[in-house]
Amino acid sequence: MKSLFTPLKNNHLTTLKINYNYKTDHVRFFAAKEWEPDQDFSQYNKKFYAESILTDKAVYLNTEEVRELFKKEGLLDYLNQVVELLREGRHVGIVCFYNERYDLHFMLNKHSYTKGLNNKYHAAMCGGCRLHPADDDELEVIIDGLNLSRGMSFKNIAADIPFGGSKTVLHGPKPDLNNMDTMGFIGYCVDRCHILTGPDMNYPNIISDIENDNFSMQFNGGPKSPLGNTGKPTALGVYLTLKEALKSLGEDGSLKGKSAAIQGLGSVGANLAERLLEEGANLVVADIDQARVDKFLKDHPGKPIKAVKLADILTQKVDIVCPCAIGGVITEENIPQLQCKVIWGPANNQIKAHSQEEEIRLAKKLADRGILFQTEWWHNAAGVFCAAEEYMMGRKATVPEAERKIAELLPRTTRENLAKAKKLGITPTECLYKTCQDIIYA
Ligand code: NAD
Repeated sequence: MKSLFTPLKNNHLTTLKINYNYKTDHVRFFAAKEWEPDQDFSQYNKKFYAESILTDKAVYLNTEEVRELFKKEGLLDYLNQVVELLREGRHVGIVCFYNERYDLHFMLNKHSYTKGLNNKYHAAMCGGCRLHPADDDELEVIIDGLNLSRGMSFKNIAADIPFGGSKTVLHGPKPDLNNMDTMGFIGYCVDRCHILTGPDMNYPNIISDIENDNFSMQFNGGPKSPLGNTGKPTALGVYLTLKEALKSLGEDGSLKGKSAAIQGLGSVGANLAERLLEEGANLVVADIDQARVDKFLKDHPGKPIKAVKLADILTQKVDIVCPCAIGGVITEENIPQLQCKVIWGPANNQIKAHSQEEEIRLAKKLADRGILFQTEWWHNAAGVFCAAEEYMMGRKATVPEAERKIAELLPRTTRENLAKAKKLGITPTECLYKTCQDIIYA
């Protein structure tokens, strides 16, 4: 497998930075040996710090020397391929830290600093941390991380938090939670990158608590965190913005008597479904995990809930379809079969698209079919909002106060976007990309 880490590995280097400036199209590289393989990271922030010089035999390579290094390793084309991805997504760069002792690959995908500049916090960017098994193809891992970091730049605007967008990736063997050397290394890397992070796919949320207790305060969302699981606040944001969506269609915003199809009864989906039921909606539900459906039915006896086959959930004849599971569920192929008036849910990347342009094109197809849709990151931002709230308020963060702020922010911004889109005669999705692009790339 081609890897940015191979030249580091073969030359006892620890660090690679790729910087891209989309305004000038300028690329710069930096590589270094910043510590020895026997560096004991369990002593991070005890005997040494993020900015300490860790070896007498440091090595630093400039842009040309890094190019030469990759050429020597037969990986210059691969390096250029990664740069092309940065160029396409207008990303500011990638940082790689290599831990030779555990063959751990730490990667930070950086999209934008803009919102995080001069924010008075150590972190300038915010985005979760994903773990990828060692045999996942590195280029796929980079594409995933870059896309997610770009998404975070937009979502952080939606959440009105003072951070740019990033995504952290650990690629390699699952880190041993009992090994303080590994945990210290992860804390050190995160602190070096000026980011705040929290659990994302495959990432055990206990890592955040271990980091907070021992190494770094730039981690959120651990079991001991004051705001707990973000499923509930995210459902609140989706529910309140859905009412705004209905109002924009000339209704009173009430869900009484409405029918809704819920795809996925997990953390957000079940919470959202409960709110809809409480207000008098009729539900159709499906989940890949039948036990979740059975439990939901058992927990709500006598309520108007019908379970349907997974394959039929999106094409139900209902007022609202709520995607609350995987992404990529709205496709070119199934748009003609949809029978709802509104699509509104928390699932990330609901429209199956490889680019922003593609997403805007398919959102227009939905609008042409008379279906109201707004790209989800504008209304599912309560999760990242809570992460930032915890980061900025520490133990003083409380659920009622976070919910009060979410209830103030998200319905208002959705109302504004829906009105602006109507005025401009474009879809809510296109309208959001226009608004946020101006902020990010100004
Ligand atoms: P979850 O893992 O708690 O729940 C997901 C549910 O979807 C599970 O019940 C699972 O069995 C089900 N599911 C998986 N694949 C399915 C399929 N193909 N068809 C039907 N059901 C399927 O996750 P969650 O935290 O509730 O998140 C749901 C979605 O919302 C995800 O896309 C997530 O990225 C997004 N999201 C979550 C938050 C949050 O705060 N939790 C915030 C923003 C966005």
